Amino acid sequence: MSSSPLFYQAGPAMPEVSHARGVFLWDTEGRDYLDGCSGAISCNLGHHHEGIRDAMLAQLDKVAFTYRTQFENGPAMALAQSLVDMTNQDLEKVFFVSSGSEAVESAIKLARQYFFARGESQRRHFVSLRPSYHGSTLGALGVTGYQPLEVPFADITQGSIKVPGPDFFRRAEASDDAHVRELLRQTREQIEAAGGDSIIAIVLEPVGGASTGARMVNKAYLEGVRELCDEFGCLLIFDEVLSGVGRTGAWFAYQHWGVVPDLLTTAKGLGAGYYPVGALLCRADIVDTVMANGGFQHGHTYAGNPLACATGLAAVEAIRKENLLDNVAIRGQQLREGLDALKARFGFVGDVRGIGMLWGVELVQDLSSKAPFPAEANLFARVTALAKEEGLLIYPRRSLDGLAGDHFLVCPPLTISEQEVSL
Ligand code: PLP
Repeated sequence: MSSSPLFYQAGPAMPEVSHARGVFLWDTEGRDYLDGCSGAISCNLGHHHEGIRDAMLAQLDKVAFTYRTQFENGPAMALAQSLVDMTNQDLEKVFFVSSGSEAVESAIKLARQYFFARGESQRRHFVSLRPSYHGSTLGALGVTGYQPLEVPFADITQGSIKVPGPDFFRRAEASDDAHVRELLRQTREQIEAAGGDSIIAIVLEPVGGASTGARMVNKAYLEGVRELCDEFGCLLIFDEVLSGVGRTGAWFAYQHWGVVPDLLTTAKGLGAGYYPVGALLCRADIVDTVMANGGFQHGHTYAGNPLACATGLAAVEAIRKENLLDNVAIRGQQLREGLDALKARFGFVGDVRGIGMLWGVELVQDLSSKAPFPAEANLFARVTALAKEEGLLIYPRRSLDGLAGDHFLVCPPLTISEQEVSL
């Protein structure tokens, strides 16, 4: 038994962190690591960012915490306006939370309350993709399509209707277009089987994270899903907890395809690893309807506190001031070329996919059949351990759904330099 009272998941022994600067971390033995996955794709501005530190200290000198029902606070108002501006006013209302799971829970509950307020309480199903990841709390887990996480809780969550998500690497159809048509056909079929007027929303990640190894949608797919939502009168929720706030080279990933959701969740990069802060963004009329019918029955203690929002504001300001959206586009291209070179060199690199600073690498046993390595090979853990030994942190996952194989994410901070990418 471990002598420490701390516990998380099972896993190998870990080094103890000492300190960090920029894209590097050091352990207490003096070894350095390049943070190739921004922690959990959250330290978007690298470590020890002076602008963020100064903004946090300045806010601590004023007031760290006020409760949202007692005071308005300037940082919260300013960050909410910034987020709305980042969507170009596509979404006009903001509800703060402290994590990605809370953002997804909030989206689920707001969407349900919206239909209650409209007298459509028969709408009780969510549609989401398999594979997908939307969080670890029970509501967010209910829309998550990743079996190892779902199984122990399946009978105590209200699981969503799961439909297959885009997989342009392993698709069975002859072309991407045919693949998208087939996905949309299956989605429609499932919605009709449940009853079109029983659906609250379709939830999806425009670019996936660890559960899919950065699988991407395309424009035709998003347009098709938007049309289905409009036809059946349900809402479209984009989960940009991981892909939002500049990670893909746009403020939000949906902006690459120009298909606008009704609700959007974001977190991780918003606090940039300095303080937990997340947000639900949504259409004003949805909020107005809920507010006119008793208000949103939901909230978390730390939501929207001044220190959280001052941190988020400083993170967004830093992305603007340091032109990091441009850096993501340029360095992202460099990273892609490096990963493509790995693919050309090693027969076990099956696919490199992603956008901006969000890349997934899928490993296969056989390139022509795309057969994954057997689970017993424990490849994802071995590759991660090897990379760590070499001083590189990556974010691994094995798909245990049988839908894919081992993959890892390469997602360094948006601040990474040309020289650091090539290390
Ligand atoms: N949604 C997505 C797309 C995520 O990638 C994650 C976390 O990885 C979450 C939700 C849950 O966020 P958190 O871990 O902050 O609760």
